[in-house]
Amino acid sequence: MTDCDVAVIGYGPTGMTLAALLGQLGHKVIVLERYKGLYNLPRAACFDDETMRTFQKLGLVDGVSQGSVVQRDYDWVNAAGETLVELQYAEAAPAGWAAMYMMFQPDIEAVLDQHDKALPSVEVRQGVTVANVVQDGETVTLHAQGPDGEPTVVRAHFVVGADGGGGFMRRTFCPEVDDYGFQENWLVCDFQMRRIVKDLPMFRQVCDPVQPTSIVRIGPRHHRFSFMLNPGETVEEATDTSSVWSRVGKYLTKDDAELIRTANYVFRSRVVRQWRHGRVFLAGDAAHEMPPFLGQGMCSGMRDSHNLAWKLDLVLTGRADTTLLDTYQVEREPHVRFITEKAIELGRVQTLRDPVQARARDERMLARRRANQGPDKVKLPGLGGGLVVGSGDFFPQGRVRSQEKEGRFDDIVGAGWCIVTRDPKLFGTLTALRRRGWDALDGRFALIASSPAADGLEDLDAVYTKWFEAHTCSVAVVRPDWYVYGTGRDGEDLAWLLDQLAVSLWKRAA
Ligand SMILES: Cc1cc2nc3c(=O)[nH]c(=O)nc-3n(C[C@H](O)[C@H](O)[C@H](O)COP(=O)(O)OP(=O)(O)OC[C@H]3O[C@@H](n4cnc5c(N)ncnc54)[C@H](O)[C@@H]3O)c2cc1C
Repeated sequence: MTDCDVAVIGYGPTGMTLAALLGQLGHKVIVLERYKGLYNLPRAACFDDETMRTFQKLGLVDGVSQGSVVQRDYDWVNAAGETLVELQYAEAAPAGWAAMYMMFQPDIEAVLDQHDKALPSVEVRQGVTVANVVQDGETVTLHAQGPDGEPTVVRAHFVVGADGGGGFMRRTFCPEVDDYGFQENWLVCDFQMRRIVKDLPMFRQVCDPVQPTSIVRIGPRHHRFSFMLNPGETVEEATDTSSVWSRVGKYLTKDDAELIRTANYVFRSRVVRQWRHGRVFLAGDAAHEMPPFLGQGMCSGMRDSHNLAWKLDLVLTGRADTTLLDTYQVEREPHVRFITEKAIELGRVQTLRDPVQARARDERMLARRRANQGPDKVKLPGLGGGLVVGSGDFFPQGRVRSQEKEGRFDDIVGAGWCIVTRDPKLFGTLTALRRRGWDALDGRFALIASSPAADGLEDLDAVYTKWFEAHTCSVAVVRPDWYVYGTGRDGEDLAWLLDQLAVSLWKRAA
């Protein structure tokens, strides 16, 4: 039997990210993954600015950038090829990175894998299938089968099931799911490009009621075509190579690209009812599945990992009560549900099969374009509950300049809790006791300078100045996952926020 702080089941993006974040904090983590090697085939196609900020935290931006490309636009066309929607993605989104990256998932997972395995406190055991979980008040014991069928036992303070949608952990701990009833059968065809193909759409939804199709580049060297299957179409028919080539014939020839994979996916939308069971948590697809129309499934799993990592750290190091871990589902579930519902809404509009309804949609969207009305952009919500006072908005990242260096805020200031203010007198108002409390959380301070000549960090793109103005505050207490714990106007507000935080971290179960 091996002991560890946290055992992670599943080495997909959720498990890999969690291991990386906990390993960065020095925790002993054992990951158990049933496959002997990496899955090595793409599923997710894109990720957002917040995900890139997480890669930044892990020091993986350079590696991840090798397997991804910034995507600036996305369009929808109808069966006649008329443009229905043209969406522009920001070059600098709130998290300080581009709003949209297209990726080749195996390249990104290879970067995470190499990183995880190099962390001294992380052990990745591949070819190990977890078959039983037993917990008492203090620990959880996992019984698994190793690569040659040998039994393996791991004991952990906490276990996170990141073993995917159909995984063992969901079946064991929470078979009750809320099913939104959205279920679509798609054929996904991935190509490795041999050469640049002129006019090949980079990110397009073809809203053709006869054959709804999505075309996306997946990273710098690959492309994906996804086709919604017709009722009655069999997987054998759909995945047959010659039928795939005839479907993509309008865009690609065999001289342009090599077909590397076809897969049949049923896109579902299900959210597990209970994400925590004592010392066991579900995360990523194990806790929720959503259709990929917003490209947020993997991003959401990584958010789960980020949310869990710093909370587990506080509990494991005796700086918070285990009740803090109850805030995990409270915070993550509404966020995931919002995205799932939006993805379904979007998917339903894009994939209308009824020609009359499809024509009405086209006319509506074409009229909007003629009236110069841009498309509605989906803005992800704040947390709204859990360990926050207020709306729990996402705190942006801008470029700043200190006396010594210039760069993105997180690189200059560092990771973890942070009090960010534009009031130079504010830190001086904190009592020694509150400062000690803040130091115990490894909290940081960042002063945003009011002008380039003043003390503090120069706000190079006015990101923070605008943010404080929009939120009518002068101080923000920001959590390690960049969601805002609370905001205030002066030292008194800050003192109150820190006292509230201390109480919340030690809210013992009644
Ligand atoms: C076609 C398609 C397109 C998508 N596009 C996007 C997109 O553009 N952007 C985005 O963010 N998301 C997208 N997604 C969703 C994304 O792929 C998933 O949300 C994400 O991969 C889930 O990661 P995970 O780590 O939670 O689970 P998984 O990747 O499923 O990993 C679970 C791991 O657990 C292991 N495991 C299972 N059972 C056991 C056991 N008993 N013991 C040990 N190990 C076990 C499995 O082998 C697996 O490696 C897409 C999905 C699909 C199918």
